[in-house]
This record gives sequence, structure tokens and C-alpha cells, in this order.
Amino acid sequence: MILRRNLSHPSVPSLRSMITSYAILMIYQRMMSACTFADLLSANGDWDIGKLSTTFTAEAISHIISVKSPDPNDTEDVIIWRWSKRHNFEVSSAYSHIFASPWDDKDQIWDLIWKNMVPQRVCLFLWLTCRQRLMTNSERCRRGLGTSAVCPRCHMADESVLHTLRDCVELKAAWMQLLAPGMREVFFQLDLHSWLRCNLSSHVALPGDDIPWRILFASLLWQLWKNQNDLVFNNLSAPTKSLVNKSLALARYYNEPLKQSSSLVHRVEQNHVWPRPPKCWVTKIIWTPRDANKLADRLAKCVNSHLFDVLTLDEPPDYLQPILAADISALHS
Ligand SMILES: [Zn+2]
Repeated sequence: MILRRNLSHPSVPSLRSMITSYAILMIYQRMMSACTFADLLSANGDWDIGKLSTTFTAEAISHIISVKSPDPNDTEDVIIWRWSKRHNFEVSSAYSHIFASPWDDKDQIWDLIWKNMVPQRVCLFLWLTCRQRLMTNSERCRRGLGTSAVCPRCHMADESVLHTLRDCVELKAAWMQLLAPGMREVFFQLDLHSWLRCNLSSHVALPGDDIPWRILFASLLWQLWKNQNDLVFNNLSAPTKSLVNKSLALARYYNEPLKQSSSLVHRVEQNHVWPRPPKCWVTKIIWTPRDANKLADRLAKCVNSHLFDVLTLDEPPDYLQPILAADISALHS
């Protein structure tokens, strides 16, 4: 009781205010330890990549060095506080900065994501993509969880969100199969947010199939991300043609309720009855738990995640061998 009374006393700072004070102190210390332009230039005034790499990521450095290095005669090379008018550090402006919400809930992009006619898990994936929260190697490095930001597929660039879903050389072929020639140039030049906004707001439909592009776009994005995860975690990768076919089939499936609701034909309710098989057949339907049929379960998972076309196996694949061996040993025991 004494502890509670003391904590509620006005002279005892609340946890929130202590955390805020600590955050402001950290911001101030970080600002004071920040480097000036002079700390990032070589002796002859050009960008020094070695010095830049101690502070910035490789992606940021490529942007920085594309801009002319600053001329020391232009203006005074000092550290400024951007959130106050006089550019001096002020606690009040730091406080406002900490509690300012970066979230724009009026942005149309949220409607484009959450009202797209795709399953909720795909909407959630699109939302994470838009927020740049996908656990790519770049993001893992940024969070201090990994040491290499390089793409595990092409090993030619950092695995950023855009690279994983659009720019990786091996995945471009998938997009090229679906994009009209007139769309290709712009499609590969937009930044992430503009790219998502442009494609998710599209009213274009795929010729012949009548599938809205915004649905097919989301469907292929989802397949590409799953495929990238299969490469990282299972060392498996589906062919581009298979990914496109599966995305098309799923997009048709997602689009079906839309077509039905927009159809002028009235919906007719019908009871579908399972037809009785001929007398010469005896049919038994038995429910088998997944653990009791690991072979079928493993096959189903493999086919479901990698292949959409019909697959014929001449002999059991390697990943079934341990299960088969276990089944055989159980039969003989
Ligand atoms: Zn790549």
C-alpha cells in the first residue's frame, strides 16, 4: 500500500514520462554524435564510400553518391535540428516529434488493400508489403538479425521488398508474361508505394479472362512471396510458368463471387446430391487423422505449395523416403 501511495504521488514521475524523458535524451545524444558532411568526404572533396559505409546501408549509399558531393563554400557545415523553426534542439519539439503519429488513416491505399477481393491473408500480406515489414534479408540486416542483405535467389542485389517481388531477374519473367507491352516500362520504374497504389487501383481486366488486374496482381505477389520463402526455408523454387498459372487460377477463383454478384442472371439454389455409385463398386469413406497418413499429407503439402499442373511421379521423391522407411519398419515390427 505504501508503495502504491508513493507511486501515485505527484512528485513521483509516471513510467510514461520517464520513458519519454529517456527517449528525448537519446535523441539529443544521437544528434550530438551525428556526423557532418565534412566527416563523409575524402581529402579532395568527393564522397568517401568507406566513411559512408560506417553509417549508411549499401542501398542508401548508392543514392547518396548519385548526388554531387557538397561544396564547403555553399553554406556552414553544421548539425541542425529539423523539427524546430530555428533549427536548435528544443525539448518541446522533440516531445511533439515522439508523439506525432506517422499513420495516415485517410490514405486511399488502405482501402485499396483491405477492400481488394482476395482472402484476408493476402490482404494482410499486402499491408505488410506496403508498410515494408516483410522479413527480407535487407529488413533482417536493418533490425540486426542478419549479416547479409543479398538476395538468396540471384545473389546480385540486396533483397529489398521491391527486389523480392518485382525486380529480381528470375522473377521479372513472371510479370513479363502478364504485362501488356505498353505497361512494362512504367511498371518496373515506380517506387514501392506508387507501384502498389497504381496496380491495386487499376480497373483494367485481363483480356479473355475478364480477371481484374488488381486481383491478379495481388495473387501473383502472394505466390512470389511464398515461393521466395520456400527457397529460403526449404531450398525449393517453382518454375515461373507454374507460378503464373497458379496465380491466374486463384485470381479466377477470387473473382468468381464478383462475377456472380454483377451477373444479371438470377442465382438458382440447387441441392447437389452425391450420386450413388454402380452396384459393382463398394465405397467406404473413412476419416484418417493427418498423423496416421503422413505420406499423403507430405505429398499434398508439396503439390499445394509448388506445383499447380498435374504431376506424375515414376518413383517416390527423396523427401518421402524417411516416411516410407518408417511405414515399412512399422509393418515388420
Ligand atoms: Zn534477386
